[in-house]
Amino acid sequence: MTKTPLTEHYAQLIGLRSPWEVTEIDLSHGDEEVRIHVSQRSGSRLRCPDCEAVCPGYDTRERRWRHLDTMQYRTLVIAQVPRVDCEQHGVRQIAVPWAEPGSRFTALFEILVIDWLLEASFAAVARKLRMSWDEVAGLQARAVQRGMARRKPQSPQRIGVDETSFQKRHEYVTVVNDLERGVVLHVADDRTQEALDGFYEGLGEKACARLTEVAMDMWAPYIASTRQHVPEADRKIVFDKFHVAKHLGDAVDRVRRQENRVLLAEDDTRLVKTKYWWLQNPDRMSARNWREFAPLRHSRLKVARAWAIKEAAMLLWGYAKRGWAERMWKRWYGWAIRSRLEPVKRVARMIQKHWQGVLNAATSNVTNALSEGLNSQIQWIKRKACGYRNRERFRLAIYFHLGGLDLYPAALKSTHSKA
Ligand SMILES: [Zn+2]
Repeated sequence: MTKTPLTEHYAQLIGLRSPWEVTEIDLSHGDEEVRIHVSQRSGSRLRCPDCEAVCPGYDTRERRWRHLDTMQYRTLVIAQVPRVDCEQHGVRQIAVPWAEPGSRFTALFEILVIDWLLEASFAAVARKLRMSWDEVAGLQARAVQRGMARRKPQSPQRIGVDETSFQKRHEYVTVVNDLERGVVLHVADDRTQEALDGFYEGLGEKACARLTEVAMDMWAPYIASTRQHVPEADRKIVFDKFHVAKHLGDAVDRVRRQENRVLLAEDDTRLVKTKYWWLQNPDRMSARNWREFAPLRHSRLKVARAWAIKEAAMLLWGYAKRGWAERMWKRWYGWAIRSRLEPVKRVARMIQKHWQGVLNAATSNVTNALSEGLNSQIQWIKRKACGYRNRERFRLAIYFHLGGLDLYPAALKSTHSKA
């Protein structure tokens, strides 16, 4: 039990505080393992982890935690941890300063894993840190739980509601974003009315009344849920540019596919491999592609007409006055509905049916960029995981990356600047 420079050094590395001390460092070259033995000085006061009352000791148990590697050697903290007999809480293991209750990793190790998970895939983290897939998953789940428990009650003003599919194409989750803070507030199974009801119910009546804008797709269950929970919903529901663009993009693609089939039958290959030209935002197209695309978009092809209608709609978001916006949208609708292009007419009818929400969007300042940005990050999470095996994992990953949560363990927080 003598203090040596080495035991002192390790005590500092783990962030040990009195009455805890390092008693022995045990180096096993065969197993490539460093074991740091730790114990409490005898006679130390023992406290119940729940009420912090000083209690009589009950017994001690050996516990181990994985710690940061020492020169690539797997490193374990091993401690004889006392259990107390609390009058109120019964027999409980006392809290240790280097780890969260119930964790098999030290707080510093958890911080390392969390930092890596924010950047790399599950598989890479597991491989590099020599952990099992389940260990990584469990650690991520606990980080999210911690973050959710610490989250203050939410009262957003402007939210976005989105559906996103995962793995098998027809399984969905509903994602609610705070459009001002750019974080995900809620992830629910499916894209039903109940999915969104759950969010509004959690938010509470007062916070629901404070909402000023709800941006979403023209999707009946979301509309119904919002009408039921948000006062004056019809004034606040916004069918934003991002979603309208998605529908129109799908319509253009449908027209292109049909027309391509007809043309190919006549050995006309003009539309082969042109899919992305028609779908891309012209602002983001390279000058060269835009030039190459010119003969097609100026052609008399049906898809060129569908594309022109889509692009015209994209220009309708700049009107600050509702009266103007309404006039221009009506003109656009007349053009689209007479286009003789069934997929385009379908979207035009959908827009007409949800007229108020589209006009709300046209004249609101909801920025499309944020919805679009969060959506593409969710796609990235999906790709990174190579398909989630279940919804729960996908849900956790969305909260982990986009929830704006405080994920780090509290133990050692004061000694670790990142936490
Ligand atoms: Zn107690």
